[in-house]
This record gives sequence, structure tokens and C-alpha cells, in this order.
Amino acid sequence: MYSYSIGQIYGIPIKIHITLLIFLPIIALQISAVMGVGSLMWGFLAAFGLFASVGLHELGHSVVALSKRIRVREILLLPIGGLAQLERMPENPDDEMQIALAGPIVSFGLAIVFWLLAMLLSWGPAWLILLLRVIAAMNLMLALFNLLPSFPMDGGRIFRAWLTPRLGLLEATRIAARTGRGMAIAFGIWGLLRGSLITIAVAVFIYMAAGAEYRMVQFRERMRGGFSFDPFQQPAVAPDEEDDNITVSPPPYERAQEPQWRDWLKRSNQKVRKVFDDLFDDWNRRSP
Ligand code: ZN
Repeated sequence: MYSYSIGQIYGIPIKIHITLLIFLPIIALQISAVMGVGSLMWGFLAAFGLFASVGLHELGHSVVALSKRIRVREILLLPIGGLAQLERMPENPDDEMQIALAGPIVSFGLAIVFWLLAMLLSWGPAWLILLLRVIAAMNLMLALFNLLPSFPMDGGRIFRAWLTPRLGLLEATRIAARTGRGMAIAFGIWGLLRGSLITIAVAVFIYMAAGAEYRMVQFRERMRGGFSFDPFQQPAVAPDEEDDNITVSPPPYERAQEPQWRDWLKRSNQKVRKVFDDLFDDWNRRSP
């Protein structure tokens, strides 16, 4: 839906969502602000490196999923990160752990490769070294951010896979989803304070996806247990097929301040306040 296929790797279609194309100039602007360079071209090059890195991270998950005989429908690149859409959830917690770990391992590997390249090419032009270092740093943050226990992101999946043999799948998912939602609220507040739209979008995504996946596990566990009727139990809600086992890797290009968003929010806030103040003045003048 509203996405363009840019190719196939291991038979997996790689797609770019239209919103990524729309947001790309803003993302490039933010990265060039982080890099402290005037030219937007380096921002675009770094953004290209970032989304290629996100794609490789998702490909890491996908290759391990394929080795577990789980088909991958597609890899979708969005402004909030990448999604590797698996056909089904791995049954075995060890498989889930390995699939979840593969993405951050790829990102750590890419961070080391780009950092080494920057070292090797230290005689080269300054812009090239800066670009390589920025891509290395983004990959390091991609790995670290995804390892936070915010289910259904990688760290949250690893957490659930660790809990499952101890508590069972349903209880493990409940605890992981609750932790994920708590972290999503924390991200949301952080994003609001910084006026960062991408962080807020990531928070909303994690919050909703955590709940959706918990309902899906709940639904499957009840189906497995047969259709026994228990009037005191909440009805299981059939989940969306689209919510099936998704991993997301938000791009970490927002570590620096983003004055443009914050100023925009501040200005909008002032505008709204002014409208209300004017209305109030008007009302005061009219009332006797
Ligand atoms: Zn991942």
C-alpha cells in the first residue's frame, strides 16, 4: 500500500513507503544539522546510508527467519524505520531470540566496518571521513536503540524469548508488552518535550504494536486451548493479520536538537493561545 518495490534479495521484496520519500528532505536536513555541514547533499548521502543500513538490519532478521523456514513477505522502509514482515511467529523461543538478535548484530557489524573504513581512509577528504563516521555512529545507535526492552522491538522480543520458558508464552508476552508500552509512553513524553515528531511516531507505533501482538498471542493460545466457554474471561479479540510479527528499527538520526520542529511547535502553540486570547478579549468586550 503506497509503497514502491526497489528490488528483491533472497526473494524478499524490498519496498520504500511513499512517506519516506516525502520525509526524506526533512531527514536529510536533520542529519546535515547533526553533522554540522552546510550542504544538504551530505545529509542526503548520510540518509541514504542510514536507510541502506536499516534495510540491511531487517535483512539480518529475514535471513535468520528464512533459515528457520519462516517466510518473509517483504521488507518495508518507513520514516520511522524498517519492518521485516514475517509470515508467522517463530514457535520456539530460541528461534525468536536468534531472529531478534540478528538485526542488532548486523548493525554492530556495520558500525565497526564504517568506523574501520573511516580509520583506513584517514588521509582522504574530511567530508568522506565525516560521512563514514556518521554512518558508523547511526548504526551503533540503531543497534543500541533496538536492544532496549521495548517490545515488539528487538530488545523486547529477546526479553520475551528469555521469559517464555520460565512463564509460558502468554504471560511472557503480557509482561514484555506491558514493559514495551511503559517504554513507549516514556519515548512519547521525551519526544513531546523535544518536539520530535519521529520519536512520537515511533512511540505511538510501539504502544499500538505491543498491544496488538499481545492480543494476537492471547487469541492463539485460546484457540489452541479449544473453544471452552468461560463467562468470566474477556473475549479474545481477533487481531489484524498485518500485525503479525513485525520488527521495527527506528532510525537514530535525531540525537541532536531539532530547533526547526521545536520552534514550529512553539509557534503553533503561541498561535493557538493567541486565537483563544483574542476570543476571550472579544467575549469580554461584548459582555456587559
Ligand atoms: Zn531489528
